[in-house]
Amino acid sequence: MKTIITAVSGLAAVGLLWVFFRPPFGKNIVHLNTDQRVVALTFDDGPSPPYTGQLLDVLAKHNVKATFFLIGNRVEKHPEIARRVIAEGHQVGNHTYSHPLLGFLPPNYVQQEIERTDKLLRQVGVTGEIVFRAPMLTRFLPVAWVLAKGDRAHVSCDVWSWDWTTQNPDKITKTVLRKVKPGSIIVLHDGIAGNKDENRSGTVKATDQIITALKQEGYRFVRMSERTTLIQKR
Ligand SMILES: [Zn+2]
Repeated sequence: MKTIITAVSGLAAVGLLWVFFRPPFGKNIVHLNTDQRVVALTFDDGPSPPYTGQLLDVLAKHNVKATFFLIGNRVEKHPEIARRVIAEGHQVGNHTYSHPLLGFLPPNYVQQEIERTDKLLRQVGVTGEIVFRAPMLTRFLPVAWVLAKGDRAHVSCDVWSWDWTTQNPDKITKTVLRKVKPGSIIVLHDGIAGNKDENRSGTVKATDQIITALKQEGYRFVRMSERTTLIQKR
């Protein structure tokens, strides 16, 4: 009897942990639902001068549009950069106000972090859908709950660039190109949460190389809002 009770409570604990870390409701976008040679470039943790501006120059040179997940308190500091991102036709997403480990915080705190940033993004001119990505992709129960209530998806990724561990542009480029496939959502960082002066020139150069290589392979680049316009996977 004791063994059965231990087994049942063990299973229940595993189930609860599973629900916490992988909530089975709401929407988590890991890649674009298409077989077309299309990818979404996403940049997290900006605005971050001078690197966000340099990145915008690289994207403009290639005529490529991307999605920038901005941190609210940085938008407050550098609203002119956020405005430039929008003016140049890129999409802007919400990456919380202060970049906490959101998944471990109570729902009302999660909600405040998101709403405060939505407001700031509207102030700098974001119109239409504001996509959301949790810091470190911690779409755990409290985050999934708040997003589901607002009928809002979480934008995850399937290609980590690992550019927060290295600024060697060739390494970053190689990591991305090895993993990329039709529909991939690629994560790069134009800033680093917690270290506003971090050098991001490796990411800037890698982005140039990644775009050049993927264009040669026939890929085109879309913003997250364009995901519904793609030919869906059969
Ligand atoms: Zn982040």
